[in-house]
Amino acid sequence: MVCVYCGHETAVLNSRLQKQSGNVWRRRSCAACGALFTTHEAPDLAACWIVQYGSTTKKQRPFERDRLYLSVVKALGHRRDAVEAASALTDTITASLLKMHLGALVPVSSIIEVSHTTLQRYDTAAAVQYAAYHPISSS
Ligand SMILES: [Zn+2]
Repeated sequence: MVCVYCGHETAVLNSRLQKQSGNVWRRRSCAACGALFTTHEAPDLAACWIVQYGSTTKKQRPFERDRLYLSVVKALGHRRDAVEAASALTDTITASLLKMHLGALVPVSSIIEVSHTTLQRYDTAAAVQYAAYHPISSS
């Protein structure tokens, strides 16, 4: 990766696997300008996951983090910290989904279930709000 400040090549000083997210954290240094900065390596979920809606292949769409994020923001609408909290909660939801090892085809019901459970732990009113727009399937 090139330096974000001057565009020269950088070297990795330190690298760590983050247990919560499964992402890789790297500390980089630029020999040209001396800058230090951090990068995070994460899977491109839009290219990895296909969301399955219903039972036919007609209802499949690449996973969109923004779509999930917006549904969480909407559920947190009553909170002042909705925007910041929704970003962290969206990371928690995708990390939980990754740990389920669902394969390439992710049922929308799994996303709804994990989102609801995560919101429930954070703010019960948000979970109720979320469920109003995303019915939990009984199966
Ligand atoms: Zn530089």
